[in-house]
Amino acid sequence: MFYSKEKKLNFNDVLIIPKSSQLNSRKDVILDTNISFPNSSVEWFGVPIMASNMDNVGTFEMGLALQKFHITNAVSKFYDKKAWVKYINKGLDPEYNYITFGLEKVSEIDEIISFIYQKTNKAIKTVVFDIPNGYIDKFSKTISDTRKHFPNLGIIAGNVVTPEGVKLLMDSGADGVKVGIGSGGVCDTTETTGIGYPQLSAVIECSEEVKKYNGFVVSDGGVKITGDISKAFAAGAGFVMLGSLLAAHKESMAPIIRKDNKNYRELYGMSSTKAMTKHYGGVADYRTSEGKSILVEDRGPVKNTVNEILGALRSTCTYINAKNIGKIYENSNFIIL
Ligand code: 5GP
Repeated sequence: MFYSKEKKLNFNDVLIIPKSSQLNSRKDVILDTNISFPNSSVEWFGVPIMASNMDNVGTFEMGLALQKFHITNAVSKFYDKKAWVKYINKGLDPEYNYITFGLEKVSEIDEIISFIYQKTNKAIKTVVFDIPNGYIDKFSKTISDTRKHFPNLGIIAGNVVTPEGVKLLMDSGADGVKVGIGSGGVCDTTETTGIGYPQLSAVIECSEEVKKYNGFVVSDGGVKITGDISKAFAAGAGFVMLGSLLAAHKESMAPIIRKDNKNYRELYGMSSTKAMTKHYGGVADYRTSEGKSILVEDRGPVKNTVNEILGALRSTCTYINAKNIGKIYENSNFIIL
């Protein structure tokens, strides 16, 4: 057994220190960012925030709303290929909406991507591979098989929380690595299994490793307030993924639940009993729930929340003289509280 005596950090353990700035207005900040994918050579341009591939977050309706802001959406894996075709034909942009896979075979992935291309004439440029434990052999094998078959497909894969995990996935051919275990708002993994890693430290340590590959980290989980998004970029994240923060909006498609004269919408973890019952007909005997189900007060259309997020990010940038999101990392110093 090994243990680190160094204290590891969460978002709420630090603040970003302000510094002299030539940016006199939030209008001077440009949030659209270029991100280069090292293994596939995909070039992406937009606001590097990503909706989480959860049932009541990564919906097509969410994607249609977010793409107007150039924000990405990891679409829930429970939509079938025909639904993808229908929504692309209605204007859903694959540049900002990614298909999510788990441990599918390459032939299955190929079938879906080819079907969408044949029916819409739109190419799928990037996909997200998401499983709760990105360390298992079968996952690295899935990534390397996919990379061999699709040399030019953007691949984001996770989740891991250590440089070892980053290495595993980047060596398998990923372009970016999704980082976060145990930090999600409706995640029960730390309570159930004792496994996890404080999110800010995970992002700092994994970003250092992924930079050796010219890749990027997607910080996934633990963002409770807009300032946490800035802290994730300051820690070196290329993208920041949001679940809870985007939940309970109209575009979540979760029906309104009326309680105590207030309107709520449900958010549940993808490893919760609720999700497993919905998608797999129950919790298998050898598994246990690692997620909760919560009611969040209805927050209306997501565009209001997105405007708050983008305004907050612009404000962070003016405090640290960061003309764009890439500069947040360069110009940030944290103080530990
Ligand atoms: P949030 O932004 O809500 O803090 O975190 C969202 C992330 O939590 C998701 O992108 C996903 O990685 C993680 N997550 C979602 N559902 C579950 C679950 O049921 N169990 C666990 N352990 N993590 C979950």
